[in-house]
Amino acid sequence: MKLFTVGPVEMYPETLEESARQLPYFRTAEFSEIMLQSERMLLELAGASQGSRAVFLTASGTGAMEAAVINCLDQTDFVLTVDGGSFGHRFAQICQRHGITQEILHLEFGETLSEQMLEASYRDGMTALLVNLDETSIGQLYDIKIISAFCKRHHLLLVVDAISAFLSDEVLMDQYGIDILILSSQKAFALAPGISAAILSPKAIELVQQRGTDLMYFDFREYLRDGERGQTPFTPAVGILLTLHTRLERLVAAGREQVRASIRGIALDFRKKVSALPIEIPAYPLSNAVTPLYFPQGNARKIYESLRRDYDITITPTGGALSDYLLRVGHIGNLTVEDNDRLIRAMKEILEMPS
Ligand SMILES: *Cc1c(COP(=O)(O)O)cnc(C)c1O
Repeated sequence: MKLFTVGPVEMYPETLEESARQLPYFRTAEFSEIMLQSERMLLELAGASQGSRAVFLTASGTGAMEAAVINCLDQTDFVLTVDGGSFGHRFAQICQRHGITQEILHLEFGETLSEQMLEASYRDGMTALLVNLDETSIGQLYDIKIISAFCKRHHLLLVVDAISAFLSDEVLMDQYGIDILILSSQKAFALAPGISAAILSPKAIELVQQRGTDLMYFDFREYLRDGERGQTPFTPAVGILLTLHTRLERLVAAGREQVRASIRGIALDFRKKVSALPIEIPAYPLSNAVTPLYFPQGNARKIYESLRRDYDITITPTGGALSDYLLRVGHIGNLTVEDNDRLIRAMKEILEMPS
């Protein structure tokens, strides 16, 4: 089985081997040192400014999205939420549940987020912007430069869910004024799901300390305090944290730009090859993490199923109204151009094209 998904993704043999080992007890100096190193490496890869911190949560990405919103915002805030797909919609739902006032910038499928759209949605008294840098449900990569300038112009706290954009696309916290960056283990880190991180800028840390929260499990103040000595308030997903440390060492050694160039290479190779097939690629800017494929005849589901059944290949189906029209091919994890060739050959056979 080969996974061209966006999470969990095809994992590296090294990760699989490491995952099979007995876990250590974690309230130890050795484990603390691993956590402190992981935090430092993560901050470096994220281009975070001096004084930034990372909190490690045992939760899927949505847990970190909700925790970030609750720890940094409250009913006195007025948020602009970019809803261009199911993940943006999730941010909107989180705000709604927690009584945070918001304006929703809704994008129709196919629309590209623009500066004009952001400005048209701006209202007096706004305090923060919530955005999923790569709206993974459709693969649109929003322009961080436009978003960053907009937030600076209006003094908005910038909360970025970069769960699929991190490592795949350019995500630099300090350079783009990102206050809170949300990450998760099962995307470009190519690890098991279960660990998510929120990286907080000094400004976000101040907000967390000022605001406080009623939450117990997700109280960032506790994570920040225990994190100073490399610990977490509760038992974390120890095994995933160990594999994260190993991945981070590889990624830091390779270099952020090299990692991104390599994912981009796989994505561009696939896009070039798929352009010979009767499949459309939407016109909006794309994340290197994933290529959305649009099937105008509405046979997307059938192709997805045939790939799984007859070729042992899993690409990513799409939920909701687009389910018959849109499939997504992930480019993150342990994939090569040869894997792309295999997928293209299979798709040609299914579409009854000469190979
Ligand atoms: C995968 C992903 C998430 C996380 O979803 P979970 O199922 O909670 O892990 C959140 N945001 C984006 C943009 C994602 O790609």
